[in-house]
Amino acid sequence: MAGHNSIRDRLSCNLAAVRQQIAEAALRCQRRPEEITLVAVTKYVGSEVIRHLVAVGCHDLGESRPQDLWQKAADMTDLPVRWHLVGHLQRNKVRRTLPLIALLHSLDSLRLAEEIDKHSAALRRRTAVLLEVNISGEPAKHGFAPREMPELLPRLAALENIEIRGLMCMAALEGGPQAARANFAALRELRDRLQAVCPPGVRLDELSMGMSGDFQAAIAEGATIVRIGSALFEGIAQ
Ligand SMILES: *Cc1c(COP(=O)(O)O)cnc(C)c1O
Repeated sequence: MAGHNSIRDRLSCNLAAVRQQIAEAALRCQRRPEEITLVAVTKYVGSEVIRHLVAVGCHDLGESRPQDLWQKAADMTDLPVRWHLVGHLQRNKVRRTLPLIALLHSLDSLRLAEEIDKHSAALRRRTAVLLEVNISGEPAKHGFAPREMPELLPRLAALENIEIRGLMCMAALEGGPQAARANFAALRELRDRLQAVCPPGVRLDELSMGMSGDFQAAIAEGATIVRIGSALFEGIAQ
């Protein structure tokens, strides 16, 4: 059983390696590494390991299940963590989730948006969101269909207590790195097309795309946020 120091050392090494790879991928396409935010997806590990990750300098943390986020956020109220929900949010979990998160990556329906708007108003805050797009078109995936976006964007933007910051996608499971890169390019192109028809006050600056297996390709295609889990926890018992 590894002691605390060795867990922390391992996380520190993994984090440095991932940050280095992010920086190299950015520099390869003439981008500045600081433009890219690393969200550490902590769904594989418990609160004890996460505390070490925060201690070595990772403050943006993501969970894919709301209940896990609730639990871990409650365990870590003493730490300066910005929580991101990266997975599907059910409407009956909105009220409890909103106060905890800095950014919702996975807004995927108008009904969910209306629920978030209502509860944000009650909390007297605007909720920052990304619109999840099912860019690969796989039936099992959540997200808006790309073709419905031009019509939906003004309706979402009309919800005053939601702040739309950009788009999010997951790459196709099949097809390897080439398919993933094509998906990332498609999300960026969709963003560029939507930017042109954006209602006033809405900007789609953020592109949340890229995970452990494909973040370099995502950065090459314009990712501003990468969501990385397994690469950070390599070598740590789970
Ligand atoms: C698990 C997860 C990730 C991280 O995946 P890794 O391949 O472990 O880096 C990113 N985004 C979402 C939505 C996830 O569920």
